Amino acid sequence: MRVPLVDLKAQYPAVGREIEDAIRLVRDRSDFVSGLDIGLFEKEFAKYLECAEVVGVASGTAALHLALLACGIGPGDEVITAAHTFAATGEAIVHVGARPVFVDIDESTYLIDSNLVEAAITPRTKAIVPVHLYGQPCDMDSLFSIASRHGLMLVEDAAQAHGATFKGRRCGTLGHVGCFSFYPGKNLGAWGDAGAVSTNDRVLAAKVRQLRDHGRSGKYQHDLVGFGERLDTIQAAVLRVKLRRLDEWNHRRRERADNYRTLLGGLLTLPAEREHAESVYHLFVVRTRARDALLEHLRGRGISAGVHYPVPLHRQPAFANAGFADVELPTTERVVDEILSLPMYPELTKEQLDFVVETIISFLQGFPTSTTRRSHE
Ligand SMILES: *Cc1c(COP(=O)(O)O)cnc(C)c1O
Repeated sequence: MRVPLVDLKAQYPAVGREIEDAIRLVRDRSDFVSGLDIGLFEKEFAKYLECAEVVGVASGTAALHLALLACGIGPGDEVITAAHTFAATGEAIVHVGARPVFVDIDESTYLIDSNLVEAAITPRTKAIVPVHLYGQPCDMDSLFSIASRHGLMLVEDAAQAHGATFKGRRCGTLGHVGCFSFYPGKNLGAWGDAGAVSTNDRVLAAKVRQLRDHGRSGKYQHDLVGFGERLDTIQAAVLRVKLRRLDEWNHRRRERADNYRTLLGGLLTLPAEREHAESVYHLFVVRTRARDALLEHLRGRGISAGVHYPVPLHRQPAFANAGFADVELPTTERVVDEILSLPMYPELTKEQLDFVVETIISFLQGFPTSTTRRSHE
């Protein structure tokens, strides 16, 4: 048996035909750019999120970049975020000319530690970018009150958290603006690159709309120096079909997470679930001091596991060379050596999951528990 980390092809029996029909309609209309499906997808995703506006853009990276620009963040500003994230979070901050200020993560959730945020605020701080990593919502009550107290913008990186909720409200609507990626492997994935910005602020939405399309206010009227970062009509058509299944797919991910939890409890450190925060398990990340050996053991038996992410941003050459080499984030640095992402996708069968669990158990039998539990226990 082979078990991939993510299996995009396993989705096609359920939606492949419907998506092909939707794409054929785009071909028949030939409205490939700024076409009918874009506005429809934006309305449908806004309704799903329960927010006023969604603006489709070319990728999650573009969503972050344009959202920060629309918030007025620029040269000389500081933006607080986590180093334990995908590179795009830090790139967007640097591309608007601001400086990322990396704050350490919480030992149990691996998300930005809201207790450390206030100490990182300076007169130059303009925004906080919490990343709902692995599909798990950040501590948005604390972050929202810190942002309000200090007059900061709260820009959510919800690229891994489509449908996740905090106190019943969806990620991407909990701050001032939310940023989504529809990279194919995400919980809601396109058939290529795509992204979106969500907000209740109509002025901000209009600004992102203008920025994504060359700063236009008319066909040949350019009020801003903008970008070519529009969402493709074909991708919007794909996303409209898949959005209708998102809740069902997230539900299945949560079922598989429960299965892992039941079968692996007490053997490895499992993802923490905080009260009021419902994760959509973009990734199911366990933790063990024997991470590298376990990874090799799984791979040798046809199971693709991964590490998200092995090198935090302040240790990446791109950022270390930009003056972050001296930054120390002890929890982040400890966690990245011990985390392991197990196969997780809605179509993962119980048989596949059982095989993953059996393979982990056979590996652990060769190790004393002290070497497999997390180091701080
Ligand atoms: C995927 C991802 C992005 C970037 O999205 P793209 O669509 O690949 O540009 C940004 N932040 C996080 C946390 C992501 O996982």
